Amino acid sequence: MARPIVPVPDPASQPFWDACNEGKLIVQYCSMCDRRQFPPEAACRDCGFNFHLTWQETSGRAKIVGYSITYDSRLVQWHPLQPFLNVIVALEEDPVINFHTNLIDDFGTNLSEEPEIPIGATCEVQFVEAEPGRMIPEWKLA
Ligand SMILES: [Zn+2]
Repeated sequence: MARPIVPVPDPASQPFWDACNEGKLIVQYCSMCDRRQFPPEAACRDCGFNFHLTWQETSGRAKIVGYSITYDSRLVQWHPLQPFLNVIVALEEDPVINFHTNLIDDFGTNLSEEPEIPIGATCEVQFVEAEPGRMIPEWKLA
Protein backbone atom coordinates (compact mmCIF):
# COMPACT_ATOMS: atom_id res chain seq x y z
CA MET A 1 0.00 0.00 0.00
CA ALA A 2 1.43 3.35 -1.00
CA ARG A 3 2.69 5.69 1.66
CA PRO A 4 2.42 9.48 1.28
CA ILE A 5 6.04 10.08 2.27
CA VAL A 6 8.86 7.65 1.53
CA PRO A 7 12.30 7.83 3.17
CA VAL A 8 15.11 9.02 0.92
CA PRO A 9 18.25 6.84 1.18
CA ASP A 10 21.59 8.46 1.85
CA PRO A 11 25.01 6.79 1.44
CA ALA A 12 24.91 5.37 4.98
CA SER A 13 21.38 4.00 4.73
CA GLN A 14 21.41 2.77 1.11
CA PRO A 15 22.36 -0.85 2.08
CA PHE A 16 19.49 -0.90 4.59
CA TRP A 17 16.97 0.15 1.93
CA ASP A 18 18.45 -2.25 -0.62
CA ALA A 19 17.98 -5.09 1.90
CA CYS A 20 14.38 -4.00 2.51
CA ASN A 21 13.75 -4.39 -1.22
CA GLU A 22 15.00 -7.99 -0.81
CA GLY A 23 12.72 -8.62 2.19
CA LYS A 24 15.50 -8.48 4.78
CA LEU A 25 15.79 -6.29 7.86
CA ILE A 26 19.44 -5.49 8.53
CA VAL A 27 21.17 -3.25 11.06
CA GLN A 28 24.76 -2.12 11.37
CA TYR A 29 27.07 -4.07 13.65
CA CYS A 30 30.44 -2.88 15.01
CA SER A 31 32.67 -5.90 15.64
CA MET A 32 35.08 -3.85 17.77
CA CYS A 33 32.35 -2.67 20.16
CA ASP A 34 30.18 -5.79 19.76
CA ARG A 35 27.08 -3.69 19.32
CA ARG A 36 24.39 -3.03 16.75
CA GLN A 37 23.13 0.38 15.74
CA PHE A 38 20.16 1.82 13.95
CA PRO A 39 19.52 4.12 12.16
CA PRO A 40 22.53 3.61 9.91
CA GLU A 41 25.38 6.05 10.23
CA ALA A 42 28.73 6.57 8.53
CA ALA A 43 30.58 5.39 11.65
CA CYS A 44 29.99 3.54 14.90
CA ARG A 45 28.42 5.85 17.49
CA ASP A 46 30.62 4.36 20.23
CA CYS A 47 34.13 4.08 18.79
CA GLY A 48 33.78 6.51 15.90
CA PHE A 49 35.37 4.16 13.39
CA ASN A 50 33.74 2.77 10.28
CA PHE A 51 36.10 -0.07 9.35
CA HIS A 52 34.56 -2.42 11.94
CA LEU A 53 31.02 -1.77 10.72
CA THR A 54 29.21 -4.55 8.91
CA TRP A 55 25.56 -5.42 8.39
CA GLN A 56 23.65 -8.11 10.26
CA GLU A 57 20.31 -9.55 9.28
CA THR A 58 17.75 -9.59 12.08
CA SER A 59 14.69 -11.74 12.66
CA GLY A 60 12.43 -8.71 12.33
CA ARG A 61 10.59 -9.86 15.43
CA ALA A 62 10.08 -7.10 17.95
CA LYS A 63 8.04 -6.03 20.94
CA ILE A 64 5.87 -2.94 21.13
CA VAL A 65 7.35 -0.57 23.70
CA GLY A 66 5.27 2.55 23.08
CA TYR A 67 2.85 4.30 20.77
CA SER A 68 1.16 7.54 19.93
CA ILE A 69 -1.77 8.51 17.76
CA THR A 70 -1.55 11.33 15.25
CA TYR A 71 -4.77 13.27 14.77
CA ASP A 72 -3.39 16.39 13.08
CA SER A 73 -0.04 15.87 11.41
CA ARG A 74 1.94 18.94 10.45
CA LEU A 75 2.68 17.07 7.20
CA VAL A 76 -0.35 17.53 4.97
CA GLN A 77 0.54 14.41 2.98
CA TRP A 78 -0.53 12.32 5.98
CA HIS A 79 -3.91 14.04 6.51
CA PRO A 80 -5.91 11.53 4.42
CA LEU A 81 -4.76 8.71 6.73
CA GLN A 82 -5.52 10.44 10.02
CA PRO A 83 -5.84 9.41 12.71
CA PHE A 84 -3.01 6.88 12.52
CA LEU A 85 -0.90 4.95 14.93
CA ASN A 86 2.81 5.42 15.44
CA VAL A 87 4.41 2.61 17.37
CA ILE A 88 7.90 2.09 18.70
CA VAL A 89 9.12 -1.47 18.53
CA ALA A 90 12.26 -2.92 20.08
CA LEU A 91 14.05 -5.74 18.28
CA GLU A 92 13.66 -9.07 20.06
CA GLU A 93 17.36 -9.98 19.76
CA ASP A 94 18.57 -6.51 20.75
CA PRO A 95 15.97 -4.31 22.50
CA VAL A 96 18.30 -1.30 22.26
CA ILE A 97 17.45 -1.21 18.57
CA ASN A 98 14.12 0.57 18.11
CA PHE A 99 12.08 1.38 15.05
CA HIS A 100 9.41 4.06 14.81
CA THR A 101 6.83 2.56 12.52
CA ASN A 102 3.25 2.09 11.52
CA LEU A 103 1.29 -0.80 12.92
CA ILE A 104 -0.36 -2.57 10.02
CA ASP A 105 -2.84 -5.37 9.52
CA ASP A 106 -2.38 -8.53 7.45
CA PHE A 107 -3.05 -6.58 4.27
CA GLY A 108 -0.47 -3.87 4.87
CA THR A 109 -3.11 -1.33 5.78
CA ASN A 110 -2.06 1.21 8.38
CA LEU A 111 -4.26 0.76 11.42
CA SER A 112 -6.10 4.00 11.93
CA GLU A 113 -8.43 3.35 14.81
CA GLU A 114 -7.34 3.16 18.37
CA PRO A 115 -7.14 -0.52 19.25
CA GLU A 116 -6.08 -1.92 22.54
CA ILE A 117 -2.37 -1.37 22.11
CA PRO A 118 -0.75 -4.37 23.72
CA ILE A 119 2.48 -2.94 25.11
CA GLY A 120 4.96 -5.79 25.18
CA ALA A 121 3.19 -7.73 22.44
CA THR A 122 5.32 -9.45 19.85
CA CYS A 123 5.11 -8.22 16.31
CA GLU A 124 6.92 -9.08 13.12
CA VAL A 125 8.26 -7.04 10.28
CA GLN A 126 6.39 -6.89 7.00
CA PHE A 127 7.72 -5.15 3.94
CA VAL A 128 5.26 -2.77 2.36
CA GLU A 129 5.62 -1.29 -1.12
CA ALA A 130 5.60 2.39 -0.22
CA GLU A 131 5.99 3.41 -3.85
CA PRO A 132 6.76 1.34 -6.94
CA GLY A 133 10.01 -0.52 -6.35
CA ARG A 134 10.48 0.79 -2.80
CA MET A 135 9.79 -1.54 0.09
CA ILE A 136 9.78 -0.19 3.64
CA PRO A 137 9.58 -2.12 6.92
CA GLU A 138 6.45 -1.90 9.01
CA TRP A 139 5.26 -4.17 11.79
CA LYS A 140 2.13 -6.22 12.47
CA LEU A 141 1.08 -8.19 15.51
CA ALA A 142 2.49 -11.73 15.43
ZN1 LIG B 1 32.39 0.64 17.46
